Amino acid sequence: MRIAVVGGGAGGMLASIIAARQGAQVVLFEKNEKLGKKIYITGKGRCNLTNLCSPDEFLKNVISNPKFLFSAIHKFTSQDCFDFFENLGLPLIVERGNRVFPASQKSSDVTKALSLEMKHLGVEVRLESEVSAIVKTVEGFNLKVNDEKLNFHKVIVSTGGLSYPSTGSTGDGMKFAKTLGHKLIETKQALVQLLTEEDVSSLEGLSLKNVALTALSNGKKVSSEFGEMLFTRNGLSGPIAITTSSRINRLYNVRLSLDLKPALDEQTLDARLLREFKDAQNCKLQNVMYKLMPSRLVDFVLKSAKLDGDKAVNIVSREERMQLLSTLKGLKFRLKKLGSFDEAVVTSGGVSVSDLKPTMESRLHEGLYFVGETVDVDALTGGFNLQIAFSTAFAAAMDATK
Ligand SMILES: Cc1cc2nc3c(=O)[nH]c(=O)nc-3n(C[C@H](O)[C@H](O)[C@H](O)COP(=O)(O)OP(=O)(O)OC[C@H]3O[C@@H](n4cnc5c(N)ncnc54)[C@H](O)[C@@H]3O)c2cc1C
Repeated sequence: MRIAVVGGGAGGMLASIIAARQGAQVVLFEKNEKLGKKIYITGKGRCNLTNLCSPDEFLKNVISNPKFLFSAIHKFTSQDCFDFFENLGLPLIVERGNRVFPASQKSSDVTKALSLEMKHLGVEVRLESEVSAIVKTVEGFNLKVNDEKLNFHKVIVSTGGLSYPSTGSTGDGMKFAKTLGHKLIETKQALVQLLTEEDVSSLEGLSLKNVALTALSNGKKVSSEFGEMLFTRNGLSGPIAITTSSRINRLYNVRLSLDLKPALDEQTLDARLLREFKDAQNCKLQNVMYKLMPSRLVDFVLKSAKLDGDKAVNIVSREERMQLLSTLKGLKFRLKKLGSFDEAVVTSGGVSVSDLKPTMESRLHEGLYFVGETVDVDALTGGFNLQIAFSTAFAAAMDATK
């Protein structure tokens, strides 16, 4: 059986190994000059390749279509993935939040381990080979690769999503799927910064710990995240902002509210303000504020609360104190848009799961599979997205060779 794997990223490499181990003759096409360009930049160069948690816990971290992934995640679990890489001779370590990394802390070692096994199994790797069309034939599929036309019995499409197109992921799999009659779910950037209408450029680079970000769509609370955040030149980033992006990327009229003091309820915070004001009767309001937050934030907060920082604390009215309190408990931002695909960690949307079986085989064309980010599945950070690519690739390769 001749199987073509289109795309030499995380999903494609694993699919080629599993299919070859099952005895198939596998040819992998990669348009770049090397394999795994995206793996190289994952986990800030360290590659958080999976999350060592139970399948149930895993699926709670999946944003789009967790139910569809149930079968694939159970067939090739995070533990299976861990064992798979260790058996390839890649020692792994587990860090905070069950995040798994190569012990060497080098993402390139993940690609190296996969490539070596592919070589060992005789997978034919064709680099600089861009597949530009997949056509259904009586016997299987015909692939247009550069100037050649090649026939295969089965095809596994693992061309990735649209994010970080410089790594080669330019949505080609979705185009193939569409041409072959599949439904596509509109793509959206996920795990990306939130660009605000408000000018936050003065705060660029400021990171905050232990804050809470709440998102509202048409006035209704849709997400709330607690942890670290980072201001960028034109928006909000860092863990809680990018998690929020995945939860709101299909919603309209999104407003954000940043609680700078989530550990204190309003009453306790007011008592704290009164205490600070009492201790600094003749000081300017802004000088008291420095005790409550990073200095770079003071002007921004005062402006948002419409308060004069030069005002002496002893003449701040109750109403003004309440204004300050509500700003500290909810600094408001209006979402302008999401950061672009160039900087989005993953793509939400893609080939509709309604056109796929849990084995990742197309319901329209027997022998055609879509895996990884080409499919309308995406998850939060923590190793979940690579594991989705691995699990869906495993499911496809096992089914294609059965
Ligand atoms: C900066 C960054 C950091 C990340 N960090 C992590 C992390 O630490 N942990 C985690 O779980 N996830 C992480 N992710 C997400 C994760 O990398 C992806 O979800 C995962 O790589 C998707 O795998 P894939 O096989 O579907 O696609 P990709 O890895 O994108 O691979 C697709 C491959 O197909 C090739 N290709 C495309 N079109 C064609 C064509 N027509 N012909 C031939 N070849 C083609 C591409 O060149 C590419 O090599 C990160 C993403 C980014 C951008």
